[in-house]
Amino acid sequence: MFIYKPYCYVCKKSSPNFKTHENCQHFFPIDQTIVLSRYSQPGVKRLLKHAKFYWKHNAYEDIILQNQKFFQKHILTKKAILLPVPMHFLRKWKRWYNQSEKIAKHLSEILDITVDNKALSRPKYSKQQSHLSRENRIKNLNGVFSLKKSINRDLSIYLVDDVISTGSTLIEITTLLQKNGYKKINAIVLASD
Ligand SMILES: [Zn+2]
Repeated sequence: MFIYKPYCYVCKKSSPNFKTHENCQHFFPIDQTIVLSRYSQPGVKRLLKHAKFYWKHNAYEDIILQNQKFFQKHILTKKAILLPVPMHFLRKWKRWYNQSEKIAKHLSEILDITVDNKALSRPKYSKQQSHLSRENRIKNLNGVFSLKKSINRDLSIYLVDDVISTGSTLIEITTLLQKNGYKKINAIVLASD
């Protein structure tokens, strides 16, 4: 069901280890976006939608354990840190947990890479992204995230999220990190459009 062939997130053409082509980085400043699966593959959309609910959260562990080799193959360095995309506390309270933190925790176990749940925060409440157009998604996220503490600059940063659609969340966080002098930002997601 899973495992997507390495491609560039922007142009969707093949690219080793999911690296964003140099020219494509003008549109998407992320160096490497590791995507386990595409929504077009049968069953993926349903599985990930269900996993978001607390009582199904073990699904993430199964997905990651079953695809261990895929993640190990594409992470190019152990000198890395995983940063889950943060959730506003009200949304977390409503949902009981942040799925990105859950995914990062399981990735950390199989990759032997540390997770930092505290570096990024989301102090500003924003509307649910899925109902908005691409343009409004970008506006909606403006200034939503903040960097709470410094990250070891020798480590490659991997942002972790469950899915990626327009990429606006990852772009917003990457821009914030770049403004703070961090380079080479990467991402790991379980599925994309
Ligand atoms: Zn490309």
